[in-house]
Amino acid sequence: MIHAYTGDGKGKTTAAVGLLIRAFGAGRRVGVIFFDKGSETYRHNELVVLDRLSIEYHVTGLERMKPDGSFRFGALEEDKVEAARGIELATDIISAGRLDLLVLDEVLTTMTYGLLDKKTIEELIDRCPEELELVLTGRCTDKELLEKADLVTKMVKHKHYFDRGVKARPGIEF
Ligand code: ATP
Ligand code: MG
Repeated sequence: MIHAYTGDGKGKTTAAVGLLIRAFGAGRRVGVIFFDKGSETYRHNELVVLDRLSIEYHVTGLERMKPDGSFRFGALEEDKVEAARGIELATDIISAGRLDLLVLDEVLTTMTYGLLDKKTIEELIDRCPEELELVLTGRCTDKELLEKADLVTKMVKHKHYFDRGVKARPGIEF
């Protein structure tokens, strides 16, 4: 089945990682490609757990935090190269049939930001074998693309503490 976790509320990556852990517990071969966790500044704590459990993961995406602590928005040519590298990894894993569940975290956001073509993701979905559970996460408003998934869950932001200035906290946001 193809899953898509999208929307502007918190919970997309944590839901995907939660499913990965559950599937791993059931003895399934699982893995994840993170499209936006290439930061050297932040220690993404889900990676600590995946290391401990020896779960396969790959990290793509360039640092977005600038030395002064502000964030870089917008796309560089190198960001596209990193996004394409993530897709290449996914394509290899899918064609080798190495995993039963593969999470492509923030792949939809990556497309929304214009780093990947929609066609690239559609092709990936089309080549996904029956036996593979594929989980796509990230912000996306493209109805046609979401329609290709078997399950679409939208996290809707009713309220978020960020709106009152609470900063991202280790173990909760990353
Ligand atoms: P999570 O990883 O918690 O499941 P998510 O994958 O749904 O969240 P992302 O858009 O990937 O959401 O955001 C990563 C984390 O950063 C989330 O915990 C989210 O709540 C938080 N976040 C979202 N918007 C902001 C913001 N404007 N400032 C700081 N942190 C934010
Ligand atoms: Mg996320």
